[in-house]
Amino acid sequence: MQTTPIPAATGAAPPGGGVPLEKTPSERFVAPAKPSLVGMTRSELAEALGRIGVPERERRMRVQQLWHWIYVRGAQSFEAMSNIGKALRTTLDAHFTLARPDVEAEQISVDGTRKWLLRLPGEHPGERPHLVECVYIPEADRGTLCLSSQVGCTLNCAFCHTGTQRLVRNLTAGEIVGQILVARDRLGDWPGGTPPANGLVPRDGGRFVTNIVMMGMGEPLYNFEAVRDALLIASDGEGLSLSKRRITLSTSGVVPNIPRAGAEIGTMLAVSLHAVNDALRDQLVPLNRKYPIATLLEACRNYPGLSNARRITFEYVMLKDVNDSPADARALVRLLKGIPAKINLIPFNPWPGTTFECSDWERIEQFSEIVFDAGYASPVRTPRGRDILAACGQLKSATEKLSARERMALRAMALTE
Ligand code: SF4
Repeated sequence: MQTTPIPAATGAAPPGGGVPLEKTPSERFVAPAKPSLVGMTRSELAEALGRIGVPERERRMRVQQLWHWIYVRGAQSFEAMSNIGKALRTTLDAHFTLARPDVEAEQISVDGTRKWLLRLPGEHPGERPHLVECVYIPEADRGTLCLSSQVGCTLNCAFCHTGTQRLVRNLTAGEIVGQILVARDRLGDWPGGTPPANGLVPRDGGRFVTNIVMMGMGEPLYNFEAVRDALLIASDGEGLSLSKRRITLSTSGVVPNIPRAGAEIGTMLAVSLHAVNDALRDQLVPLNRKYPIATLLEACRNYPGLSNARRITFEYVMLKDVNDSPADARALVRLLKGIPAKINLIPFNPWPGTTFECSDWERIEQFSEIVFDAGYASPVRTPRGRDILAACGQLKSATEKLSARERMALRAMALTE
């Protein structure tokens, strides 16, 4: 039983005080007059082609061509689409774009982690754009891209910097897929592309981006349809072609949407658990008050297709003297009994203003050993890119606090021009 007092999460308090469970978006996405084809499903593309007069009998073939150019070749202009006639290319260009989010800033860590701060339009033209993050983490055997699903987050997890920000709006499927395209543009990760000259080594199949995790800003299961459409595009075998086993959707425990995710998306699942009893989890992940641990784990047990080769990842952030005792480790093992699981222990990556501290290394090792001895893989996830503030939401907040001069310097670094 924990006795350590937990600092209250910041963010807008509901009337009557306390931490609100969920926030409502303050804005909505307004489609531009000339929309991007990036992120449209095949049927949406066919409809879009119908609207510009492409005869029905041709649409299937045209959709295939566009799909190939956008997701296999990384085309950034219709002009490049050499097997589409000039007249149709001109019509496409008059009505649509292939736009992905613009890059506001790029940071490269000494460990090779790259972060892009991306600009997304606000609801009201002329107002400051919104910023979200996308992070690329190269490792020996894979290159993982961490995507954001919301500007801000619906939830208020106490240890998370993004939780302190308001929820502005959900990203569209195009803005989620667009993050993958931006990363591949930047990494020269298209056929014939030029990779950056800093020793990055291509991974599986000669590609830089081999894995996707929905673990950036936002709670993906509170933006279900857009996340579903984006991940189905990412895993489409005739396009970006990332195996669903290499895509992980991470949730804080939006229980009703877990079976939906299993049925309609079918990727791997990660759950931000972080505590082994409801009293503590209510404070760390306030959504637990709505969907307590037992309900959450029941949904996990029933997640389709689980086996020893296809396990749920439970994320557990190591907070000094809060959730890191040997008793907590043993309780974790008891809780997960019967669920094919692996446990990711995450040393807490402190952000300016937080009152949490990272557990001592000895404690983390002790915790990991108990979990490992019980038969669970328990890798300790090395915090990446500490030098560029790798935890979610931090690059955005740091940039918001910058002076105009610093902002210009960052933009110059962004290599956008
Ligand atoms: S941990 Fe995830 S769900 Fe919780 S506040 Fe942060 S971004 Fe949102």
